[in-house]
Amino acid sequence: MIATKQSASAIDKFMQMVEKHNPAQPEFYQAVYEVALAVIPFIEEHPEYKKANILERMIEPERILIFRVPWMDDAGNFRVNRGYRVQMNNAIGPYKGGLRFHPDVTLSVLKFLAFEQVFKNSLTTLPIGGGKGGSDFDPKGKSDNEVMRFCQSFMIELFRHIGKDTDIPAGDIGVGSREIGYLFGQFKRLKNEFNGVLTGKGYAYGGSLIRPEATGYGLLFFVDEMLKTKGETIKGKRVVISGSGNVAQYAIEKTLAFGGIPITASDSNGFIYDHQGIDTHKLAYLLDLKNNRRGRISEYAEAFGCPYFEGQKPWKIPCDVALPCAIQNELDEEDAKKLVANGCKLVAEGANMPSTPKAIEVLQKNRLLYAPGKASNAGGVAASGLEMSQNSIRMYWTREEVEGRLRVIMEMIHEQCIRYGKNADGSVDYVKGANIAGFVRVADAMLAEGHV
Ligand code: NDP
Repeated sequence: MIATKQSASAIDKFMQMVEKHNPAQPEFYQAVYEVALAVIPFIEEHPEYKKANILERMIEPERILIFRVPWMDDAGNFRVNRGYRVQMNNAIGPYKGGLRFHPDVTLSVLKFLAFEQVFKNSLTTLPIGGGKGGSDFDPKGKSDNEVMRFCQSFMIELFRHIGKDTDIPAGDIGVGSREIGYLFGQFKRLKNEFNGVLTGKGYAYGGSLIRPEATGYGLLFFVDEMLKTKGETIKGKRVVISGSGNVAQYAIEKTLAFGGIPITASDSNGFIYDHQGIDTHKLAYLLDLKNNRRGRISEYAEAFGCPYFEGQKPWKIPCDVALPCAIQNELDEEDAKKLVANGCKLVAEGANMPSTPKAIEVLQKNRLLYAPGKASNAGGVAASGLEMSQNSIRMYWTREEVEGRLRVIMEMIHEQCIRYGKNADGSVDYVKGANIAGFVRVADAMLAEGHV
């Protein structure tokens, strides 16, 4: 990917600067490094971006908010967590990106997510900038009332900094329809305004059809485009999927709809391997288990008599296609080698940055089709953009209308990856393509808007 010695040294210098100015933020460096590898050689050939220091400006968040979130548990104990919102870049539209509630949330994690979001949102072709937020609060094991009290307290601070034309949060890990409902209810109460300030809302109060499905569906639309470049489809292919949350659930559903065979699902405790395939009946069980009963994936193995691997990841299971849909850095170099050895042909990311840099190297060196999350999981934010449009015109579109638009957006993202990522031998470097295409749109807007 590195074009010249000159750009290699420019990348080194750039990364030294990033580390010096952002001490102890490993996830953020990782996200910036992936972009730098693709974009710095491109900038070397485009002096207008270099002169305006565009990349140096892009890695600096426009604003970071950090705040205390006090709340009371059911036993009457005083509890406290830390809340964040990183408003990364609004060159092409208001900040937009999810909220994550997970014990591992740190400023580094949210800066990586916000930075990725800028590129991803740009790729959707919609007018949305990038941001991300959340808290180290863990909703797991908390009662509905505890989650509600936490969400209300979180919003008491956040509401001053967001707005339908300023910053529009959505869900992410640990923030699903229940949390979005509580957050929206509190925003509305504090502002005395009913507007589309959050996306991922329930259909009854302004949500969009297909938004819950969009990241998983979008991932499969993208995979379909990738396979088309080889004259193939997913029909009959065995698909290994990690996670069992929002993204994984609908990735499984669309895999089935396209005739593929989903064979694994996981959570933070382990994974199940269903050799027969997860069919629609078993998927309905999984959705109820995870969304209503909030149970563990091991219960699936008990219910359907298939193997459960405690504390392990699913990448050792032979497959044609692998879709990491859980969390960052869940697929490392060793995992990538196992996938290659077992004949896997395609890896597309449903999660954000699930593959480590070394894993990506292995996948690319072995010429697998590999798509980074900022391209292949952009369907979620794209449908959020469509939810914003519907809120603005105060109308609801049909399922077919939203899914049709989502499909077109995923096709356009794929086209952009090809435009900037096609190699001389005809293969496609999706990492290069996605990063350069995402960069160009934001960079051009920043150039036009002046020194802001
Ligand atoms: P959910 O909270 O619905 O699901 C997360 C899944 O990941 C759960 O199965 C969870 O298991 C698992 N998980 C969490 N932590 C770990 C861990 N340390 N090791 C292994 N598994 C873990 O989140 P989403 O499905 O919404 O998000 C999944 C990924 O997709 C994230 O990277 C997110 O940023 C990304 N994404 C989400 C979008 C969306 O629209 N929701 C859009 C684009 C990207 P457990 O229940 O045990 O915690």
